[in-house]
Amino acid sequence: MKGCFVTATDTEAGKTLVSAGLSCLLHALVLKPVQTGCLQETDSEGKAMLRAPDVDAVERLGGMARALHCYLPPCSPHLACELARERLSVAGLARELRTAAQDESCVLVEGAGGLYVPLNEQESLLDLMQELKLPVILVVANRLGCLNQALLSIEAVQSRGLEVAGLVLNRVVEPEHCDPGCGSCASSEDEARILNDNVTSLARMAGRRHVPLLADIPWLGSDVLACREKLLERLAPAARRVQELLAEPGQEAGSRESLLDFDRNHLWHPYTSATNPLPVYEVASTRANRLCLADGRELVDGMSSWWCAVHGYGNERLIAAMTRQVQRMSHVMFGGITHRPAVELGRRLLDIVPRGLDWLFYADSGSVSVEVALKMAVQYQQSLGRAKRQHFLTPMGGYHGDTQGAMSVCDPVNGMHVLFSGLLPRHYFVERPACRFDEPFDPQSLEEARTFLQSRADEIAAVILEPVVQGAGGMWFYHPDYLKGLRELCDAYDILLICDEIATGFGRTGRLFACEWAGITPDIMCLGKALCGGMMTGAVTLATRRVAQSIGQAPAGLGGGLLMHGPTFMANPLFCATALASVDELLASPWQERVRNLQTWLQEGLAPNDGQPGVRDVRVLGAIGVVETEKPVNMATLQRFFVEQGVWIRPFDHLIYVMPPFTSPKEDVQQLCRAITRAVDAGLIL
Ligand SMILES: *Cc1c(COP(=O)(O)O)cnc(C)c1O
Repeated sequence: MKGCFVTATDTEAGKTLVSAGLSCLLHALVLKPVQTGCLQETDSEGKAMLRAPDVDAVERLGGMARALHCYLPPCSPHLACELARERLSVAGLARELRTAAQDESCVLVEGAGGLYVPLNEQESLLDLMQELKLPVILVVANRLGCLNQALLSIEAVQSRGLEVAGLVLNRVVEPEHCDPGCGSCASSEDEARILNDNVTSLARMAGRRHVPLLADIPWLGSDVLACREKLLERLAPAARRVQELLAEPGQEAGSRESLLDFDRNHLWHPYTSATNPLPVYEVASTRANRLCLADGRELVDGMSSWWCAVHGYGNERLIAAMTRQVQRMSHVMFGGITHRPAVELGRRLLDIVPRGLDWLFYADSGSVSVEVALKMAVQYQQSLGRAKRQHFLTPMGGYHGDTQGAMSVCDPVNGMHVLFSGLLPRHYFVERPACRFDEPFDPQSLEEARTFLQSRADEIAAVILEPVVQGAGGMWFYHPDYLKGLRELCDAYDILLICDEIATGFGRTGRLFACEWAGITPDIMCLGKALCGGMMTGAVTLATRRVAQSIGQAPAGLGGGLLMHGPTFMANPLFCATALASVDELLASPWQERVRNLQTWLQEGLAPNDGQPGVRDVRVLGAIGVVETEKPVNMATLQRFFVEQGVWIRPFDHLIYVMPPFTSPKEDVQQLCRAITRAVDAGLIL
């Protein structure tokens, strides 16, 4: 849909007059989603019908208009349609508006009253504006108090990520009719001064918010038609502004191509080639569990943006927390300074993580939190005088991030250690935990680790692994008793256990933390990804008091007790405040029930793929569903197929997997599974 949204600070501001004028100047159709206060009439066949006064007003001036929903009572839309036993919704109205605008080169969608005028119990006109994403022309009645109203409206519109294309001031008070005794304007001279000052003040104050004052419409009298030329003359700059916006890139397919061109020629994507990149899709916005592509298509999200967006996108609590914090203090260094967001997030995390974890280090990404964990382990062993314990033991198939220390403990084949053999320290690997999550535990699976530690424990600072679910290294679910067994082995040799819960933390596996499946507490734990609900980057490394104190008491020759790390953006207040809101949102939600439902729907939906040609294994745990293929998948082909099916699923290597937002409705999860089943049925994985 192309055009703009015409709204006002309030009712009776002259919005329809402005729409009518713009309709004439731009030859654009005015679409009125809801019209209340209609007139009852009978048509030529004697049938009762409702006439929309605003449509009449536009047509009288020579413009074109249509009202989609008409109601008799002159009240707010939500009440009018309640009285008519109907229900309006943003999604429904948006759909109807898009259909009505289909063949138009420019439409003017006209609101009803102000921004927060309700459409139903939950949604307002502002929500409709946000859904349509059109630039906004704001009509302001020039009267006492209008500066305040105009600025509040600008702020509200801009806070939804919309552009206020400009203001139109409208003199709605007949000059000589102002009541001399009204107190605020002692004489008509005073009144004129106030109204004129509104023009200059508003131009200045709105200008500071990058909103131009496009027109100042004088009092036109009751016979507007007689003043038509004057109105159109005054509105000409506003019409030009709308035309400029229509010509701007972003609405044009051509600009999308140039965007993709730049991307292709200058931007690296994760694990891709600069000379032969995989295709990318431009996402323009996100909402709930949907990615909205720039070409207008909407995809059901199956990835939660790599484990992060557990609440879906655009969660109100998270946005409110972020907005509040960014206004107060977005960032301040953590050296020598502390702040409430860091303390409150820390308190909340210590309340919910496995018992015994007691100290926190805020890192700026998951990989960095792993680096910090590795350093902690080495410093801990040094503090006890065990200088030789500089190595790590980890199962194959793990993934811990892309920085060097983290990479050195990733699966050596997946992580392409050969490429970096001169760069990476060498650590020790045991075979991938062979015992499936859903089969009886086989103690034999721990033998290799046991034998290794018997002979070489004195080289090992810590064992590091992802609890129960190995993520990016193969989406493998192993038996919790394996983790329990490793905990015991670590205790026996005073080796630390590091659990990397960056992917599994915050409910994904059905427990708040995957360690809970084994009932263990690691000595060090990393959290990231869903910690901030997908709003921004940030992570934390937690340690037990024993680890923190031992490092803290190290003698001068061994670091003097300092933990040697301190990123610039450590404990970024914006991150901490947002993460706190995300954790609270999760804990306040029925997340266990949601994850249980997702598990059931994924099991049902993916089951038909079991035993199909090309499929090696189908497995589901919590809100993670995996179809493992026999051959590596053709990413580009499968990706295109999934987008055509209306879903966002990013397969890689031998894996087609989904981990949808916890808030995903059943139909959408079924759609994700259906898309995978169709791909398998179509032989796309052979
Ligand atoms: C994603 C991930 C990381 C790395 O986190 P980044 O924020 O990408 O640096 C580390 N460990 C696990 C288990 C992960 O899934």
